[in-house]
Amino acid sequence: MPANRDKFVRYDAVIIGSGVSGLTAAITLAQRGRKVAVVEKSKQICPLIRRFKRGNVWCDPAFHYTGGFEDSGALSVLFRYLGMRDMIHAVPMKDDAYDLLHFGHRQIPLPTGFDALRDTLCSHFPKSRQAIHKYIESVKALMVSTPFISYDMEFGDFTRLQNDSQSLTDYLQSAGAEEELQQLLGQYGEFLYGVAGHEVPFPVHAITMGTFYKSPHTLAHGGDDIVDAFETRLEQEGVDLFCGQAVTGLKVANERRLQGVEIDGDAFLETENCIYTAHPGLLSHILPRGSVKPAYISRLKDLENTFSTFALYLEVDEIPERIANTNMYKLLPGENELKSDSILAIMSCDPAHHDGRKKALCVLKGAGNLPFGEEAYRNRKKSGAYYDYKARETEKAVRQLEDFFPEIKGKFKVVDSATPYTYERYTGTPGGSMYGVKHSVNQIGLNPVTSIVGFYLAGQSILMPGVMGAAISGFLGASKIIGLEKLWKEVQKCR
Ligand SMILES: Cc1cc2nc3c(=O)[nH]c(=O)nc-3n(C[C@H](O)[C@H](O)[C@H](O)COP(=O)(O)OP(=O)(O)OC[C@H]3O[C@@H](n4cnc5c(N)ncnc54)[C@H](O)[C@@H]3O)c2cc1C
Repeated sequence: MPANRDKFVRYDAVIIGSGVSGLTAAITLAQRGRKVAVVEKSKQICPLIRRFKRGNVWCDPAFHYTGGFEDSGALSVLFRYLGMRDMIHAVPMKDDAYDLLHFGHRQIPLPTGFDALRDTLCSHFPKSRQAIHKYIESVKALMVSTPFISYDMEFGDFTRLQNDSQSLTDYLQSAGAEEELQQLLGQYGEFLYGVAGHEVPFPVHAITMGTFYKSPHTLAHGGDDIVDAFETRLEQEGVDLFCGQAVTGLKVANERRLQGVEIDGDAFLETENCIYTAHPGLLSHILPRGSVKPAYISRLKDLENTFSTFALYLEVDEIPERIANTNMYKLLPGENELKSDSILAIMSCDPAHHDGRKKALCVLKGAGNLPFGEEAYRNRKKSGAYYDYKARETEKAVRQLEDFFPEIKGKFKVVDSATPYTYERYTGTPGGSMYGVKHSVNQIGLNPVTSIVGFYLAGQSILMPGVMGAAISGFLGASKIIGLEKLWKEVQKCR
């Protein structure tokens, strides 16, 4: 979609960043008649979840599966509201083992549905029976009382999750769960939202995991199902896209009132409303001096991020039976956190059909210590050191994979790999952090309403990580401009 700078220089709203959160905000505003522009520093929208082709297969850099795609699920309702649910082909994961957790000598297949999950956990951790019952009931209770996870509640002030509650570990300890169960749930959750059990607020754990427990889905064409639907709706709603152009500054008038955004230092989009969805740590580069208090800038710089990953992309003739429509995780007894240099998960990039086409698998591992500073990475092409690092890490990941999943030996071809630097290059997220800022009991969340009038924050770092968290956050960002009560009533009609 070509950007049309000359025709529209003044917008009702400008969205910075075209990830799931930014595009949800853009369509929400545009379908209510607002003139909207989206500015994205990458060449195409949605760089994080957009597929890329290597060899004979399409690979997913980020999105693999999610909760919330059942008919009344959080994402189905929101995407129906955005007019795009019918364009997305959600495929249920394997019913009796949507995830396969390797935990030391145990293999624990997780079934879909709360009752089945409770029975499975009880059979593996019989001493924690009572704690497991309590845990499942608490997760269910939080899901029905959390707006946008449930759409049945009356309108109220529910724009932020409470992060000041107890951690998952504290919750499980007080419920009497044995240590190994705490480690299992802590590491599994950490993979899906980036925060260890002793740091993650129980509600963040419960809501994210609860949607997976209830109804996990993958998509027929991976992240592209969502990207294509966004593209169609942006075009239908006449949203202007400025891709391959970064926002380099904000213009803020007296009394801290937003006047517009500068792109690539030479163009200006006039607007009184802007939703910023890139990583908050990058905000200090675009805020004019004096527009926020110095303490705010320090806080942005000190934000702690989730871990980063190294991804290996494989081409296979068939997805091995054991992991067909399943993801396989490597979790470690005796550890309270994921290990930073170990294999974490094998995820399929396609629902497993026996259709004779080659398939992609994605192997994710912790990235370990990063060898380059910013400058060395920028000069990587000259020095060659980056490519040596990437080749070394690829070899190591292959060895770790074959050790973890021996039946794959000799049946795959490595088609590419992605380092934390790759993720940082695509999204700007510092250190290639997987889920942006940590939602942690030790870190106060950023308020989506800033001290600059008309300037709001949204995205995975503000509300909750994952496609679902980003979409809800984008919708809430738009609600700052339109009013949440009106939007809530409209979205409720899409249940
Ligand atoms: C390896 C990996 C696997 C994952 N797997 C899953 C999964 O299976 N399921 C799931 O639900 N989630 C998964 N996630 C998480 C999920 O992809 C993210 O939480 C979500 O997509 C974040 O969306 P967002 O809109 O908040 O941020 P982003 O997608 O990061 O959007 C921010 C955008 O801002 C742009 N930007 C930055 N600076 C500027 C600037 N100055 N000017 C203009 N634009 C700018 C960036 O290029 C970027 O496109 C995964 C993530 C990773 C890294």
